Amino acid sequence: MTRINSTKVGDIEIIALTDGASQFGPEMFPETEEKIITDILRNANTESIDTNFNAFIVKSAGNTMLVDAGPRDLFGETCGFLSDALTEAGIANDDITHLYLTHLHPDHIAGALTQDGQAVFEKAQMIVSEADHAFWSNEVFTDETLSQWQVLAKACIAAYTGRTELVSDGDKLINGVTALALPGHTPGHMGFRADNASESFIHVGDIAHAPVLQLANPDIGIVFDIDMDVARDTRKRTFDMVATDGMKLSGGHFLRPNIGTLDRVGKSYIFNVG
Ligand SMILES: [Zn+2]
Repeated sequence: MTRINSTKVGDIEIIALTDGASQFGPEMFPETEEKIITDILRNANTESIDTNFNAFIVKSAGNTMLVDAGPRDLFGETCGFLSDALTEAGIANDDITHLYLTHLHPDHIAGALTQDGQAVFEKAQMIVSEADHAFWSNEVFTDETLSQWQVLAKACIAAYTGRTELVSDGDKLINGVTALALPGHTPGHMGFRADNASESFIHVGDIAHAPVLQLANPDIGIVFDIDMDVARDTRKRTFDMVATDGMKLSGGHFLRPNIGTLDRVGKSYIFNVG
């Protein structure tokens, strides 16, 4: 089974790496009536709310940027295959010059750390949004889950200390590739865009965790969104932009093969592979 698919924007090569797969229960969407969910699933001819865990490689002007690093062993045996995907793409850990983390949630950063908290990507500069770095560094959580997530976020920050670059919306990541703020999921949550004169690709981060549900109805938010209202606005605005501008997109949890375009149908979006 292949774990990669790719596209190009001019000379910029973008390779999607599928780390693994899992499923959500309807309780993960607490503001949505279960009937709305079951109706969408029936229309889509599926019974499960599927998700994938994706990382990306972006190659441009001699640099090799890894975007997110997957959940490692946190979610059991259906996930944690980042190194298999990198091998399939012909990339060794030490080839990676930049590690861009869209946000500091465990399913995006655990794979950047060994079991004992060392950096996996020893040659890479870590790039993370200034707002997320500050949030996970300074916030005091009473919620137990968020507290546990913060332990891992702080471990990641510590492992890459001394080679960390903090960015905000619009900042250059590598040649032709810029940071894109997508607030709501976390305060500093980001994607990226790659542009040349005639084409654009956008990585929409975690604006959709269950693409089947959230493309059909972008009002549906997931419990992991720290601010569900801001996340909903970001999701709707971004899907609208991608469809209107005819951009290619992918995201942290899109289902393989996960690079394509969006068509708008009423208030829904249809994902077209390619
Ligand atoms: Zn995620």
